[in-house]
Amino acid sequence: MTDWTARAAELYDGGHRRMLIDGDWTDARSGAVIEARNPADGRLLATVPRADSADIDRAVAAARRAFEGPWSRFTPFERQALLLRIADRVEAEWQDLCLSDTLDMGMPIQRSLANSRRVLGMLRFYAGQAVAIHGLTIPNSFPGDIRSWTVREPLGVIGAIIPWNAPIAGSVWKIAPALATGCTVVLKPSEEASLTVLMLARIMQDCGLPPGVLNVVTGLGPEAGAALAAHPDVDRVAFTGSTGTGRAIAQAAAGNLRRVSLELGGKSPVILCRDADLDRAIPIAAMAVFANSGQICIAGSRLFVAREIQDEVLSRLADQAAALRIGPGLDPATEIGPLISARQADRVQGYLDRGLAQGARLLTGGARAEGPGLAGGHFFQPTVFADVADDMTIAREEIFGPVLSALPFDDLDEVVTRANATPYGLAAGVFTTHLGTAHKLARRLRAGTVWVNMYHAIDPAVPFGGVKASGHGREGGIEHLDEFLDSKAVWINT
Ligand code: NAD
Repeated sequence: MTDWTARAAELYDGGHRRMLIDGDWTDARSGAVIEARNPADGRLLATVPRADSADIDRAVAAARRAFEGPWSRFTPFERQALLLRIADRVEAEWQDLCLSDTLDMGMPIQRSLANSRRVLGMLRFYAGQAVAIHGLTIPNSFPGDIRSWTVREPLGVIGAIIPWNAPIAGSVWKIAPALATGCTVVLKPSEEASLTVLMLARIMQDCGLPPGVLNVVTGLGPEAGAALAAHPDVDRVAFTGSTGTGRAIAQAAAGNLRRVSLELGGKSPVILCRDADLDRAIPIAAMAVFANSGQICIAGSRLFVAREIQDEVLSRLADQAAALRIGPGLDPATEIGPLISARQADRVQGYLDRGLAQGARLLTGGARAEGPGLAGGHFFQPTVFADVADDMTIAREEIFGPVLSALPFDDLDEVVTRANATPYGLAAGVFTTHLGTAHKLARRLRAGTVWVNMYHAIDPAVPFGGVKASGHGREGGIEHLDEFLDSKAVWINT
């Protein structure tokens, strides 16, 4: 059995880590740094460079040189081989990568380890796609021997910006399809969680990625992030993060007509119909919102429960929430790790206070978690509110914490209207044993993903993304490749 604590001490001892630009491990030109602290105990893990626009310029220039130089000479089969090599190395170093995420952003180690299918699958799925990208021969209306066809060409330099809540998956989701198509990448991880992304970059570099193909630039959102989003030589900004930041990025991109993909926030509904199999539904509905302490974009934070079963569901859900084991992510028994920061804990507390002030009834939780092993960390109790009305703040805004709002409903038409009455549209869950209800709700819910009798399923081959204020564009699946490719039409008069 792995001794996680011993390995953690070996991995990060408070020392300095550099970022990757043009194949070199480098510091910010300014010399400025950011501290990376463990949200479970406040300990300093490492410092990383705090890049600014001058460093972004260097990285984008390196990505452009690599795109036009060595990387453009890689055949699709060579790109495929490289991605497969990377997948094997990521698999070999999986435990360290997961441990790094646990230390840097608090994800319970068991949850982190369980993500391997998705992350390795993503690398291998896009390795497969690298050799399957092709254009079409298209008949045209011209008389004579005029031929036309399309070729699919890589867009160029991708500026990728990701949040802190799933650093490994978040970065691989952008890097794998970009590299498969022949694009190069400048990736800015979140200032809250850069360490694992740097580890991943080292693995990729060791696998033989030419300099400049992947650059990882650490820094703050308003500095390095804004510089990358506004950079004139970036061909597409691929952003995952909050809706507010997404809006700023779309505005920056509109000025120079740059393409943008946006994976943004959510306020996802989960609907428990009166015919749901409750033994199956309740544990899934609980983890739909409490997994990763609620810090996932698809958190099922609005639970619509058929009024007839409300009392039973809420009492069982509250018991389930209260029994979840809170602790540092390093403990393999931990189900609920810390929130990312003191600021986030204050934010969640603010929502709880507003929920109570607006008349919601607290069933369980509702405060920071304290106790042995929790000192110095940002732990929060899984919280369930009943009697929530649709217009309460906790039912409308993304909390990004372990807070569930339960709302009763009477009939299906009503619940569809209410579930859709949100600016967001990322995901939705439905629990029913009635096939017709499953189909009806899957069709009528406005969301990028609808899960029936399950939640959280994300697969490399299946597209994922949002509608409305949850963004546009899709990650995963063959659709994602389109975001990194252009179609060029070629005409020849023979
Ligand atoms: P955030 O928007 O604060 O930050 C995301 C990234 O953007 C970070 O790297 C940050 O440094 C950068 N950034 C911040 N300001 C910027 C600016 N002005 N210009 C350019 N970059 C800037 O989000 P967060 O708090 O890191 O993450 C939580 C949010 O991410 C939640 O809203 C969550 O729903 C969303 N999210 C969405 C998905 C999805 O796939 N739809 C996945 C994970 C997280």
